[in-house]
Amino acid sequence: MIKTVLASGNVHKLSEFRSLLSGTEIDLIAADECGGMPTVEESGPDFKANALIKASALKMQLDLGYAILSDDSGLEVDFLGGAPGVYSARYAGDSASDQQNIDKLLEALSSAPERLRTARFRCVLCWIHPENGIHYFEGACEGRIAFNIKGSSGFGYDPIFIPNGFDATFGELGESIKSQLSHRAQALHSFRDAFRNKT
Ligand code: IMP
Repeated sequence: MIKTVLASGNVHKLSEFRSLLSGTEIDLIAADECGGMPTVEESGPDFKANALIKASALKMQLDLGYAILSDDSGLEVDFLGGAPGVYSARYAGDSASDQQNIDKLLEALSSAPERLRTARFRCVLCWIHPENGIHYFEGACEGRIAFNIKGSSGFGYDPIFIPNGFDATFGELGESIKSQLSHRAQALHSFRDAFRNKT
């Protein structure tokens, strides 16, 4: 097994990642079991840069022969030129709530008709292996932004994101459907596939 520390303090991500990596050689360990995830400033220009910032910060703290896996994700809205993008968590301000971020986004899209509300969630994974270097894996989930909040499942922008092929938001569709379609699931599938191909 390859012991891999997840560069996140998010318990929800740990269980989601563990279930998607079951059956592989990856043994995922929580950062909390290795001194905790250090505080980092996610100041990179894109998801890839931020994923590397998180993984590198944990690597400096660990100093062990473990591999490290990090992720960075967010929402890109075409009508807004790709915003909020890397600012997804703090779109309405540094300590903005999900509700405040959603309110700001719906306001920014108030003049956009349905056909111009296209958007996607993106995720980049960064895997640092002590001998094999740095590898990136990407995933995206295409969809559109609803006119109103619908459903209460999930987090972040889930109650206003309608994935392609559905007429309901992730907030209405629930975790089991989201876990098959999501940007994180797509990125983890390519990580798992690449990893399987090498072993
Ligand atoms: P993180 O950097 O991966 O933790 O994500 C940054 C922000 O992107 C989150 O705070 C959410 O606002 C948004 N986001 C990322 N993934 C999702 C998702 O699966 N659903 C809803 N919002 C998400």
